[in-house]
Amino acid sequence: MSQSDILFDYKHIWHPYSSIVNPLPCYSIISAKGVYLKLKNGKKIIDGMSSWWSTIHGYNHPILNKSLKKQIRKMSHVMFGGITHPSAILLCRKLIKLTPKKLDCVFLSDSGSVSIEVAIKMLIQYWESLGQKRTKILTIKNGYHGDTFAAMSISDPNNSMHEIYNKFLPKNLFADAPTSSFHKEWNPFDIESFRKIIKENSLKIAGVVLEPIVQGVGGMNFYHPMYLKNVKKLCQNYSIPLVFDEIATGFGRTGKLFAFQHADVVPDILCIGKAMTGGTITLAATLASRNIADAISTSSRKCFMHGPTYMANPLACAAANANIKILEKNEWQKQISSIEKQLHENLLPLIHHERVIDVRILGAIGVVECRHFVNMPLIQSFFVKNGVWIRPFRKIIYIVPPYIINSDEIKKLINAIKKALDNDVFFM
Ligand SMILES: *Cc1c(COP(=O)(O)O)cnc(C)c1O
Repeated sequence: MSQSDILFDYKHIWHPYSSIVNPLPCYSIISAKGVYLKLKNGKKIIDGMSSWWSTIHGYNHPILNKSLKKQIRKMSHVMFGGITHPSAILLCRKLIKLTPKKLDCVFLSDSGSVSIEVAIKMLIQYWESLGQKRTKILTIKNGYHGDTFAAMSISDPNNSMHEIYNKFLPKNLFADAPTSSFHKEWNPFDIESFRKIIKENSLKIAGVVLEPIVQGVGGMNFYHPMYLKNVKKLCQNYSIPLVFDEIATGFGRTGKLFAFQHADVVPDILCIGKAMTGGTITLAATLASRNIADAISTSSRKCFMHGPTYMANPLACAAANANIKILEKNEWQKQISSIEKQLHENLLPLIHHERVIDVRILGAIGVVECRHFVNMPLIQSFFVKNGVWIRPFRKIIYIVPPYIINSDEIKKLINAIKKALDNDVFFM
């Protein structure tokens, strides 16, 4: 990669949430292996982000690579309309086996945001089949569900892009976010806002959509399992379907295969994505209960109206099958609990730092909430100089490393955070 490539990128290519006129600098990565990203100058840095929660077994994993190569020799893609293929069938069998018994029908799509759109369309068609026009979604503040329009319309109204797209966005219902944190005592008052809204709007609400236990981009909060239990009870009382967005938390990240298992409640619809292919190719899924799927299919339209071009892409399905095969070896529980233990030993003490408001840990997620906003370009280049890839947002510095990371590598991530906290220039 030459200097002119970098300049071309700077001038012509959008990166996530970036300006094309005056973008922040990008680092060019030429290869990756295990937990390491290799920069073009040959330097290797430890990935503390798992490429946004996805590369859970590390880069260039032999089992994932092998499955992709094996699939590519047969076919990279084939349309899913009127055609099926062994990798998709195997994957859907595995997904149904991994998830609660109730979730019985699978819709595969290309990204997490789309899996949320699909869930919302399912809810609307479900009610239509029952002869009711219901269009409101109830969710909680501080949520994040993706960047497409319906997903944006249920993401936090302040933290997301509601202002910009206000005229275009459907208006949904937002209950106060829970304040009882995962490891502390349950405050029963937390559910009151949700209770009030669901009671007053019960005949308009098509479904409840939320991130179970971990609110990600909305602030990296871990909330109390009792909140979910109460949500589930209220949904049942009013016969309103419950949708869980496990796109970030699915596949072991929180110490359970799915975060909702911390509360022992089962959703009617489940969205998964991110880590599903072990960070190799984009793929997501929306799993629905038989009851909802049947209702949609007996409506006047009879069909569920969605069908992406690359639906059930064979390469993506093969990678997901390999990813699940690695998880089935059951090493992930040991890996996550040893990461969690070390985060308690080495990250938690940062809670005493004057610049820090809170340190939170759940499974292989470590969060440092600062008093002030971080200066992104400065802190990013500091982290790279210190051999780590950590990408904070707002006041949050967090790590979600690959499950295979070892104890020295975790130490390096934490030491880099510690050093950054000691320096004024990284905070605004
Ligand atoms: C990342 C994420 C999404 C969106 O997934 P994409 O694949 O980026 O479209 C939705 N919900 C949650 C909780 C996420 O973390």
